[in-house]
Amino acid sequence: MIKVAKFGGSSVATAEQFKKVRNIVRADPDRRFVVVSAAGKRFADDNKITDLLLLVNAHIAYHVDCTQLLKDIEQRFVQIAEDLELTYPIAEKFEEFSSLVGSLSPEYIVSRGEWFTARLMAEYLDMPFLDAADAVVFRHDGSVDMERTATQVKDALQRLGSFVMPGFYGSTVDGTIKLFKRGGGDISGAVLARCLDAHIYENWTDVSGFLSADPRIVDNPRTIHRITFDEMRELSYMGATVLQEEAIFPVREVGIPIQIKNTNNPDSQGTIIRETAEDNEREHLITGIAGRKDFLAVHISKAHMSNRIGIVREALAVFERYGVSVEHIPTGVDSFGVVVNGADVADKIYLIVNDLQQALDPDSVTVIDKLALISVVGRNMSRRPGTSGRVFGALGEAGINIRMITQSSQEISIILGVNNEDFDRAINVVYSAFVAEEMVDMPKEEE
Ligand code: ASP
Repeated sequence: MIKVAKFGGSSVATAEQFKKVRNIVRADPDRRFVVVSAAGKRFADDNKITDLLLLVNAHIAYHVDCTQLLKDIEQRFVQIAEDLELTYPIAEKFEEFSSLVGSLSPEYIVSRGEWFTARLMAEYLDMPFLDAADAVVFRHDGSVDMERTATQVKDALQRLGSFVMPGFYGSTVDGTIKLFKRGGGDISGAVLARCLDAHIYENWTDVSGFLSADPRIVDNPRTIHRITFDEMRELSYMGATVLQEEAIFPVREVGIPIQIKNTNNPDSQGTIIRETAEDNEREHLITGIAGRKDFLAVHISKAHMSNRIGIVREALAVFERYGVSVEHIPTGVDSFGVVVNGADVADKIYLIVNDLQQALDPDSVTVIDKLALISVVGRNMSRRPGTSGRVFGALGEAGINIRMITQSSQEISIILGVNNEDFDRAINVVYSAFVAEEMVDMPKEEE
């Protein structure tokens, strides 16, 4: 069995965390391929090494001396190496790097966070080090060349048998270091899992998986143990994130599941993300609830609109002209709405309304702003009648006015629009009506 285990920044922030990683890796002989982020925060208001390296770049760009900053970064690595009694000459190597920063590319500089972290981790785990620059290949358009990467990774597998690879970067064909987006260590792990044909991609972080609601809004929300890729996309899009959004694509395409696990609590079940989730009587009706505030809906109505072909397209063309991305299009018989991100239209909504009036000659155009959207997500909803009725009933009883309703096309989510000020309460009401109630009915989950 091949497992790729990726450890995020907080999992490698200190020597203590390194020890937890080693225990996890040693607990399972299948964990032979490890990807690490750069050392992250050791406490809440600490700085991530990646952010400090970005700061180094800013100093260089503005010709400000950054000797002390580099010393501080060096000290973070030296501390880990000393605490673990590693022999890698970290101070010497880091100083070599520091002396060259003026001549290095900004992406190269930032990539050293994961590079040094992986160097130390490789020694501590007693595994070979594989430089991501020799494994992950970027095309010039920024996408990963999966074929070349697979060839290099399989070659490394033959040569080394196991390895620790830094996440977050790779190189173009001409050898230039290139970074993924922020949080991109998750993508590196996914790319590696795919290229090794792994059975599972383990993503070790500092939470025990995906939560069914935002813990800042709902008290102690339930952890989601099983979720499908589609459900996760819906929830992440609406603001619930544990993984870098793009990390799912490389593994999803080839059917490799992702397991989210907590380095600080390795025995907790975590969350498994798969293409389909098996049916069982313990499956919940609602998987999770997420939402975002500050949307804006433009409602257009016109008598006999239903007979006029192309009217929605004409309206969308107006939004397209202004470069505004459309989130939802709830429709009625003689009316429809276009829901967009409030911030995207803040300075052009009058122009857009004006253009809609010109183009469509509608009976009315009304704008509702300060709209919050809440997505109630559950793959099992489509098979059980009455779900939306219960959602609306619960909100109605709580006196919350629903301003808009749509359902995603695969029926895995119901999207509700409420006023911004009702947002937190609406989430709590839906959560109590479904998730909390189910927790009472259901056999206790093993945690
Ligand atoms: N170190 C990078 C970041 O902070 C990448 C990662 O942690 O995945 O964004």
